Amino acid sequence: MSAARVRVTARAAARCEHVFADHHVNAETARWAARIDAEFLAEVGWDASTLVLVLPPEHPLLGRPVCRVAGCATTAATRERICFSCRRRLADRRLDIADVDQLPALVPASAKPVDEDEACLVTACGRARRHADGTYCDAHQQRLRAARSMDPGLDERRWRRTAAPVSGSGEVNMHGLAPMAIAQVLLGLQQRCNLTGVKTRESDLRVFCNELRELQASTLADYGDRGHDRAGTFAAMVNALTSQASRALSSPETEIGKDVWDLGVFGHNGFLDFTTITQRWLRETAKRWAADELVVLGNPVRVCDVRVCARPVGFQNSAAGGDLG
Ligand SMILES: [Zn+2]
Ligand SMILES: [Zn+2]
Repeated sequence: MSAARVRVTARAAARCEHVFADHHVNAETARWAARIDAEFLAEVGWDASTLVLVLPPEHPLLGRPVCRVAGCATTAATRERICFSCRRRLADRRLDIADVDQLPALVPASAKPVDEDEACLVTACGRARRHADGTYCDAHQQRLRAARSMDPGLDERRWRRTAAPVSGSGEVNMHGLAPMAIAQVLLGLQQRCNLTGVKTRESDLRVFCNELRELQASTLADYGDRGHDRAGTFAAMVNALTSQASRALSSPETEIGKDVWDLGVFGHNGFLDFTTITQRWLRETAKRWAADELVVLGNPVRVCDVRVCARPVGFQNSAAGGDLG
């Protein structure tokens, strides 16, 4: 590799360290990642080395209601704001919801990273293996058994790469996704939060990332139309992330060169698809345009004297008109 190439690669890496830490990414992915603000990533709890979002519960657009038991960070959307497991702790002690203050505070589990040779072999999982000589953590051992009973011919190597991680409340794990897909999801999320101010449900985001991993999608475009078949907030989120991410890299100048225009880039809604335009439509539109021009030029129209030429004299940019008018 030449010295210049090394410098370019090092510069690209420096521009996207806030997104990918020291994970290797190609130049195209680095270009997308460079558009993501370090400040935004800090605000939404992005960990560039583990590739996990730990969304702060108090975030106005990505937050969630948290269980009110001291030390508990589990999502609790019910009116009482007590999670399922704390309800069970209350029941075990024969306590009522009103006695919630009597529950001992929960001590968060240690997040100490597990050594590579002790970690579960599912790509997205960072948990310890169940046995020293085992292959998977407890949860993935059970999930593999379930997956095998559904599909006896299961490709276990693929399953390891595509199985969903075990996620805690507020966590969206993007480990095992293609780097480009990660950059696009984060960029789309940044644009959605900053430009539209629309709330995104962490559960929708988690499902979307798990599906991208399951598909082994290289980019969000590989997800295709799957999002359209789904209901409500999920479909809206997928569409928004995809269009906002690509919009962040577009300008009216670049958009004009494409066959389908995203009118959002020009400050309007919707898309304009030029690939469906027929010759007939083009001819009729050109005639209407010409007729409008002729009205502007005024009547009667004097036609150019050159026999093969039927252009009205005085047409701008007309070579014949320019010479003979
Ligand atoms: Zn709880
Ligand atoms: Zn595991």
